[in-house]
Amino acid sequence: MFSVYIKSRSILQKLFILFAVLFAHLLPAQVDTTIFSDGPYLMYGDNGQLTAYWADPEARTSGQLGWNDGATERLPPFRTFRPELVNPDTSFQRQKQVIFTGVDKLAVVSDIHGQYEVVRKLLISHGVMDNNRHWTFGQGHFVIVGDIFDRGGQVTEILWMIHQLQQEALLAGGRVHFLLGNHETMIMDADIRYINRRYLTTGSLLQIPYQELYGPDSYLGRWLRSLPLTVQINDMVFVHGGISLNMAREVYELDKINDLYHQHLIDNIYGTVASETERLKLMKGREGPLWYRGYFTDRDLGDKDIDKILKKLGASRMVVGHTSFEAIRSFFDGKVIAVDSSMKFGAMGEVLLVEDGHFVRGNLQGERVDLFEAGR
Ligand code: CA
Repeated sequence: MFSVYIKSRSILQKLFILFAVLFAHLLPAQVDTTIFSDGPYLMYGDNGQLTAYWADPEARTSGQLGWNDGATERLPPFRTFRPELVNPDTSFQRQKQVIFTGVDKLAVVSDIHGQYEVVRKLLISHGVMDNNRHWTFGQGHFVIVGDIFDRGGQVTEILWMIHQLQQEALLAGGRVHFLLGNHETMIMDADIRYINRRYLTTGSLLQIPYQELYGPDSYLGRWLRSLPLTVQINDMVFVHGGISLNMAREVYELDKINDLYHQHLIDNIYGTVASETERLKLMKGREGPLWYRGYFTDRDLGDKDIDKILKKLGASRMVVGHTSFEAIRSFFDGKVIAVDSSMKFGAMGEVLLVEDGHFVRGNLQGERVDLFEAGR
């Protein structure tokens, strides 16, 4: 039938049809022209009601809507936000459990710094979520060792994605641990030196300073203020910078590290008592859990020091971010694992996978390499 159809046309038409058939696959597929807004930023008013704010920094437009005024149906499209997973009455209680045992599989990333596409690809390629960003990791635990904020321009997308995965994981018997990094606490402290330019535009369009969009009166801000700095899973301690020898001498119980930091440096509801001042200075400074880099920079730090720290913590490994490498790396015979694999540049990044005691680096091509192979 096809040949009859061709015969009734001129040579030129025939050639055109032939080319169209041969090269159709080279034409661009239908491009998704949906414009996604930045947001939503959900803010609590004096009456406890939420208002949703959003902006399009490129088109320089913005909007707002009361949550109870049908916001869930009338919001513009966002890349990752799902309104059905927002409960305005959430209490955002701080998670008290810091030690988790008997976890069969783990996925770990850190220092995403606004690179949504990189982390999305890694999580899909390595079975943490599907193409629609739904949790597929079963009873596994997924740890983000801090620093979703700053540098890149898709922080909001990542936060809502993680917020959703956290809820889905719980339903599946798994867990998502989003641990605070120094860039989360900087935003909470209104230090916005490292935010992407897009967010300066969002702030000015909404006429709300960026730090207030994550302040104590915002939904995501309350969520941030409920997150831990550190957890232990099986025999591994996870913390953004690391636990220094001085820190371990001072405080080594993980729940105490979380409590002290939250009570005095985030909530600050008790004021700071004089006897705590030195300890808090240490916690907030270069040897504190969110800023420490000594495992990689302190030449005087030896195996024995690492053993001392681990003994204090009652763990056999530490998994940290904050200090960037070109890939996930192991130090001190695997007692320190560095997972900041430079996602911040937008073109690279890895996920650490731990399954049945095997440590594997998962890369953006979907390949898996043994972390402890020779030379590492
Ligand atoms: Ca950091």
